[in-house]
Amino acid sequence: MRILVAGGAGYIGSCTTEYLLDRGHEICVFDALLNGHRQAVDERAQFVYGNLEDYNAIDKAIKDFKPEGVIHFAAFIEVGESMKLPGKYFRNNVANAMNLAEACATNAVRKIVFSSTAATYGMPKNIPIREDEPTIPINAYGESKLMFEKVLVWYEKIHGLQYTALRYFNAAGATEKHGEDHNPETHLIPLVLQAAEGKRPHISVFGTDYDTPDGTCIRDYIHVLDLAQAHLLALENQTSGAYNLGTGNGHSVKSIIDTVKSVTGKDFKVEYADRRPGDPARLIADSTAAKKVLGWKPMYDDINAIVESAWKWRLKFPNGYQN
Ligand code: UDP
Repeated sequence: MRILVAGGAGYIGSCTTEYLLDRGHEICVFDALLNGHRQAVDERAQFVYGNLEDYNAIDKAIKDFKPEGVIHFAAFIEVGESMKLPGKYFRNNVANAMNLAEACATNAVRKIVFSSTAATYGMPKNIPIREDEPTIPINAYGESKLMFEKVLVWYEKIHGLQYTALRYFNAAGATEKHGEDHNPETHLIPLVLQAAEGKRPHISVFGTDYDTPDGTCIRDYIHVLDLAQAHLLALENQTSGAYNLGTGNGHSVKSIIDTVKSVTGKDFKVEYADRRPGDPARLIADSTAAKKVLGWKPMYDDINAIVESAWKWRLKFPNGYQN
């Protein structure tokens, strides 16, 4: 397949690009390098430097490359920031994303696969979460992703553009070549690994009074290569829908810190801090639908193996993509 990957210089985008190239697909990465890295773009992929706020740029990239499928990773992703700068999130994650949907429809792209999120559910009543759980986001990030899912529903009805929204739980881990390198870093596992490396004086635990067994938030950490596999299956699938992607296992912030200590063999300081606004207590996926409809077969369900792959990548690239 010819696949255009918007946001292919970012963490999940670069790992998915590598996964698709390894399976013989032709890839064009379209990225504005706002948070991504030019070095993260696999040398086997074409690269177009462009921003989705520019309709003509994405329209031209699609006209030139003629993809059968498009994957959309190019979004802002920080829950905390979205609660301070909601306009930044709605502008990029909804308005700019609409340029991509419009260019796909105009140029008769068959399928768009969209990086959505467990944050669309807000504070779910039922755990594990199925796709029929009400979607009532409690942060602007989750709302921006849900809004674009709704846009896609209408593009499918009106223009026949097939879509798959993949609601990731917490992406984690790395491939041999590509891993997580955000600046500033806000995600738990890379931050704890930086503390283990001595690059941070401590790790802060955001909230210890949640209604969970150890009082810290529980998340479902899913390996980035399992996410990558789901994107290919979604492109091959000829229907539209939204699917959860997670392991079905929940890990608290405290247990992730213990896992990092045991995987790395390093000790470091842990500080207990206030809750971060917009954090639900527990997010665990029921991914039965993705397995049934897309044929998804996740390979990693062991948190040690997931953290180990991220640690190996950091040891190999101690400064991330900055050489
Ligand atoms: N977290 C934390 N300390 C940090 C970063 C994150 O305690 O320095 C917590 C955060 O409050 C959440 C969990 O770790 O409960 C996962 O956060 P992350 O930002 O990695 O992913 P999110 O679930 O927000 O997408």
